[in-house]
Amino acid sequence: MRYLFPLFFLFSNLIIAQNDTYQLIGAMLAETPIEENLQELCDEIGGRVTGSKANEKAVEWSYQKFQEAGVSVRKQAFEMPVLWLPESTQARVSGALDFQPNIVAKYQTPPGKYQGRLIYVGTGTPQEMEPVLEQVRGNFVLVEMDLCLDINGLFAEYAAATTVENAAQKYGAKGIIFMSSRPKGLLYRFITSKATDNTMPQFVMAREDAKRCMRTLQLDKQLAINIDIKAQTGDAFTSENVIAEIRGSEKPDEVVVIGAHLDSWALGTGANDNGCNVSMMIDIARQMKKLGIQPKRTIRFALWNGEEQGYFGSWAYTREQARQLDKHIMALSIDIGSGALTGFFTNGQAKLIPALEKVLAPVQALGEFTHLNIPIVGTDNFDFMLEGVANLVGNHKPASYGINYHASSDTFDKVDLKTLKTNSAIIATLALGFANLDEKDITWKRQNRAEIQEIFDANKLEFTMRMFNVWTPWVEKTRGRKE
Ligand SMILES: [Zn+2]
Repeated sequence: MRYLFPLFFLFSNLIIAQNDTYQLIGAMLAETPIEENLQELCDEIGGRVTGSKANEKAVEWSYQKFQEAGVSVRKQAFEMPVLWLPESTQARVSGALDFQPNIVAKYQTPPGKYQGRLIYVGTGTPQEMEPVLEQVRGNFVLVEMDLCLDINGLFAEYAAATTVENAAQKYGAKGIIFMSSRPKGLLYRFITSKATDNTMPQFVMAREDAKRCMRTLQLDKQLAINIDIKAQTGDAFTSENVIAEIRGSEKPDEVVVIGAHLDSWALGTGANDNGCNVSMMIDIARQMKKLGIQPKRTIRFALWNGEEQGYFGSWAYTREQARQLDKHIMALSIDIGSGALTGFFTNGQAKLIPALEKVLAPVQALGEFTHLNIPIVGTDNFDFMLEGVANLVGNHKPASYGINYHASSDTFDKVDLKTLKTNSAIIATLALGFANLDEKDITWKRQNRAEIQEIFDANKLEFTMRMFNVWTPWVEKTRGRKE
């Protein structure tokens, strides 16, 4: 009996933990308000650019949803460096053609009126710009873009745009007009590689309109463009993350963070990017609380703000939590829409893979998972990676994410609601699994600066980090772990 009792105690704990997991999976898959919440966020509040009234509404709305779920919640204020709220962009092409192309400004294009010749430069590489050097100076380069149909296409587009920007800057162009990478007049908002520091006017023109101009220019005819962009601009301002938590029962100071960004661009209504996963975070917190689940470690549900301009909300969180980051077991970011989850990016910490496989065992019937130890730059895991905290990014089937990315078509009707439910069960299981992991299964620890640098070097990440304006702050130690 003396030997049996502790064993029994151990098993009963294990059984409770397993029961919690299976109950949670059942609850996530059963009918919940996840869809209704998403519809409210997208249709009623709409696109929510950080700094806008709609964004403030979204903060209040999500804060209230967590409160209604009965979990403790707070707002974390942080500073955004600069305000840029787009209002309208109008253009007129004149010369050999006369028409009004559909066009939108990229983030941080200074508002005002611009005029110049349109210069066709192919895909905008330095080799293509050099022969027309004299014409490029002081004018607008018109750049051809490949079709973007999925996430790989998106990264290729960011990379191509960065090369064009560098060349346009070098040769003194007044500005850049990118052909839209999506057909049928679809427009979308992009940041430039200088992000909040951008000063060069840059635009995306409807693919068909851009092609019309290009065909004309290739006949050696001349075109000019007039652009009028209106935007509300301003200095630094305060934004807020919304952070809820369920406190750990055994190790409350150890933390698992799962997050999605609350802000969006506003051509569409931020449905696949990233309203669907905001709604998921709220629903996971709600179902855990409803079932009275007590994780061993604290689970935080973070709705980040200021993501689109450079992950400012999650960066602020890592600064606020600087002294607690050693105790952050894992930070998960979910930001690639509502296609089926195919596994997780482990961002340079391969030791996470056995733990992932273990915690995902209860949901193995819901998907086949392949985990990739590739570092992702471009969403809210980034500052955790920069701080050496173990971090994951959900990887998804492309579904309709890429084609609608940041576009006017990213609306509620594009979300795969059925898959979103399945994904929510997987993410809930993962969060609870990490929060309940045995000490012996946590084989990783926070990385130091040299180890983080090693990931960047091994993956040749400098260009990618420059694409998002985050390489210099890392090198200058104004962002990320200092030693
Ligand atoms: Zn996103």
